[in-house]
Parts: sequence; C-alpha cells; structure tokens
Amino acid sequence: MPTHDLIVIGGGPGGYVAAIRAAQLGLNVACIDANERLGGTCLRVGCIPSKAMLESSEKYTELKHGLDVHGIKLGKVELDLPAMLARKEEIVKGLTGGIDMLLKKNKITRYTGLGSFAGPGKVTVKGKDNVELEAKHIIIATGSKVASLKGVEVDGKTVGTSTEALAYDKVPGHLVVIGAGYIGMEMGSVWLRLGAKVTMLEYLDRILPGMDSDIAADAHKLFKKQGFEFKLGAKVTGTKATKGGAIVEIEGADPIKCDKVLLSVGRAPNTEGLNLQAVGLQPDGRGKIEVNDHFETKAKNIYAIGDVIRGPMLAHKAEEEGVACAEHIVTGYGHVNYDAIPAVVYTHPEIASVGKTEDELKEKGVEYKKGVYHFKANGRARTLGETDGKVKILADAKTDRVLGVHILGNRAGDLIAEAAVAMEYGASSEDIARASHAHPTLAEAVKEAALGVAGRTING
Ligand code: FAD
Repeated sequence: MPTHDLIVIGGGPGGYVAAIRAAQLGLNVACIDANERLGGTCLRVGCIPSKAMLESSEKYTELKHGLDVHGIKLGKVELDLPAMLARKEEIVKGLTGGIDMLLKKNKITRYTGLGSFAGPGKVTVKGKDNVELEAKHIIIATGSKVASLKGVEVDGKTVGTSTEALAYDKVPGHLVVIGAGYIGMEMGSVWLRLGAKVTMLEYLDRILPGMDSDIAADAHKLFKKQGFEFKLGAKVTGTKATKGGAIVEIEGADPIKCDKVLLSVGRAPNTEGLNLQAVGLQPDGRGKIEVNDHFETKAKNIYAIGDVIRGPMLAHKAEEEGVACAEHIVTGYGHVNYDAIPAVVYTHPEIASVGKTEDELKEKGVEYKKGVYHFKANGRARTLGETDGKVKILADAKTDRVLGVHILGNRAGDLIAEAAVAMEYGASSEDIARASHAHPTLAEAVKEAALGVAGRTING
C-alpha cells in the first residue's frame, strides 16, 4: 500500500497550497482530486472564469457606451460570445495546467479519483486511479458546492447555477438571479453588460449580506442606474419550466417569466462521499467539519481547511489555512489572522472590505471614529472617469487602531490590499495617513480617508 506522510483530499486553493507548503517543509505528500483539472472550484468554475467574463463584458460595455466622454468615437461594436467564452476557457486551462506543474515541481504524488476514508490513516481512491493509501496525517480540503433552495430544481439548462452562468451559449433575453450575494451580483453583471435584462431576487431587505450596509446601499443605487432590477424581501418558492424558459414563483408577489434562472443562494460544504464515519467524524448542523484553531478535527491527525470549515468561503482564506495547517503539522506553529482577510466583489465599481463593518461595531458597542473620502474628490479617479464610490476607514476611538476598511470604487479589490497589510501589522489610521502615497493615484483616497479619521482631510 503506497504510504505518504500527508494525504490532502481536494486540490483546490486550500488543498494544493497545503500540499505544496508541506512538501516545502520536507513531507512526502499525496494530493487527491476527483477532477482531472486541479485548482478546485476557484480555478475551474469560480474566481478565475468569472473574473475573465467580468473583464471581457466590462470591456464590451466600455467600448459600447463609455468612450464618447473621452472624445473617442467608435464604429459598430459587436459581441463575439463564442470567442469570449473560448478566451475564458484558455485562461482556465492555462492556470489549472500550472497547478499540475507546481505539484510535479514539489514532488507531490497526484491521484485522480474520489477520496474516502477507509479507517484511521487510510484513504481509498476510486476513479481514474483506484488505490488504497496510508498516511500519518490527512487534510480534508474538499471545498463546497452550490447550495440548493426548496422548490427550485436545477436542471442545468434553464435553471442553473454559477457554473452554467459562466457558459451560456447566448445572451439570455431575461435572466432572473435568485440571491443578491457576491456571486449573483457578479454573474448578473456579466449578462447585464452583454445585453440581458437582469432581475435580482433577494430574500433579505438589502443586497450583499455581510458587507458593510452603508457601502452596500450605495452600491445598490449604482447597480440600479446600470439597469439591474431588484426585488428585495422576495421569497422564492419555486421555479417551473416552460417552453423555452421558466417561471419563478415568489411568495405574495406575481410570478416572473424569464429565459434563464441562476440560483446563487450560497454554497454548501462538500462532505458526502468522504465516509467520515470511518474515522468517527460527522459534519455539524450546517454540514461543515468542526476544527479547532489548528485545523484539527476531533479525529487524531485529521485536519480540515477551506470552504469545508467555518469562516468565509474565499479562495485566499482557504490558501492561508492550507499554509498554516501544513506548518502546524510540521513545526507545531501556524496561524491565520481572520481579522485581516479581505473580501472583494468584482462588480463595477468593485466593493472591497477588510475587518469589521460599521454594523458589527455598532452591534458590539465598540466606540469608533470614522474617516470617509469620496472618489469624486480624487484626481486620478477624475482622469479615469471613475468617480463613483468612497473609502471608509473605521478606527478604535481610543487607540486609533484600524478596525475595518470598506471601499466602493474602481479597483477597490487592489486598493484593499494596503488596508489588509496595515491591519495585519496592527496599524493605526495615523500610520496610513502619514505614509506617502503616490500622486495621482486612487490609493490617495485611502490616505485621505485615514486623515479623515482625525478630521484633517487635506483635499476635501
Ligand atoms: P474547492 O476549490 O471547492 O476545491 C475542492 C476540491 O476538492 C475540488 O477540486 C473537488 O473536485 C475536490 N473534491 C471534493 N470532494 C472530493 C473527494 N471526496 N475526493 C477527491 N476530491 C474531492 N473566492 C475568492 O476568494 N474570490 C473570488 O473572486 C471568488 N469567486 C467565485 C466565483 C464563483 C462563481 C464561485 C462559485 C466561487 C468563487 N469563490 C471566490 C469562492 C472560491 O472558489 C472558494 O472559496 C474556494 O475555491 C475554496 O477552496 P477550497 O480549496 O476549500 O475548495
């Protein structure tokens, strides 16, 4: 029976990163994935293909509607959807192939098939490879799948998930998105930009649950201007297939007829098929695997990381956990600072956040100071023609330590990195305010917001 020091089940951002870090630290590592293409949800049907489609669709919109103001007149702009989809596929192929190379470079043994526990320290692989493996340590990194909604039957054709919405072969006339979280808003943006009518149905009375509510409210207004239709407080009770489309039923409201339905009400951990009982484990009420601060499950030498455990379902969170878990196994140390994990919504403009929201601080009764700076006062934003949005910095009222940063604006996803690093180092808002920021850049808005915490914004 092939024996390894560590087996990682799942080759997504959590699993492949854990495998590489453990190999760097000298372990003999195996990585099992059911899919021949490594990289998990993120590379195959998540972060990467969605960002490819967001970028292409944004370019299309800009060329179609956005250049007159720059004094540039264009001829007819046409959409070549098959070429756009092919570009996305090429990017996915290149990056997933890259993970293959990385595993080889780090001498990690790869098995393709479904991994399941055959007892303590034993894992069976079934699929392309059929083998029983043994290891002292096992990391579960099996990620997540689309969460279901009662009454909504996903047929993969008319009613689909984000996976199908990444590959519609024509622009739907009317797309109904169930769930206005970040995946729904991103995929809705793609098809709205390409010409679909998009109706967002959200059960809550706000969009983007979990994000700072004031920033989400500003974003909501901008999205409405872009042409999104929103129905908040809408409880979807079911969908019915019709000839060539579907009807979405909503409690207490008129049903909506549409061409495609995208179900995006969240994601559920992937644990079935793992035969967790064989090692005495069982998922909690939400289907997640319980772990302590060192990613140890209740079963000895079995760990879990990424979407399959508590915390935000984000690729970079899974990666940090992969590194920390591997380091803990080998060195006894390994830590993730959950207070400084950023989150980004790749709409236009982008929305990015790190640390506590204003809602959370109010709820916990934390005394805080606030600095807000609007991009319309930022020189670079003016030259870019991207003046929507703002930066908001929340700092402790007594110590000035930065507690949260929230940005709505062009390239907010890149701007938030500065805030995440600052928070990782325990920075005060004055630390950010006193650091020189190049002129003219969007990042100056972060500095001005930091100055604003002390009421001494210069340009505004
Ligand atoms: P996964 O990436 O889900 O990988 C798990 C792997 O395990 C899979 O490859 C699966 O095949 C394999 N597997 C499962 N069970 C078994 C088994 N029994 N045996 C063998 N293999 C198994 N996150 C971001 O941070 N930024 C984004 O922009 C972003 N955009 C997204 C867009 C969409 C449309 C979606 C759906 C998700 C997005 N995410 C994004 C979330 C991100 O994809 C996940 O948080 C991330 O992939 C989780 O990593 P993971 O390693 O825990 O699991």
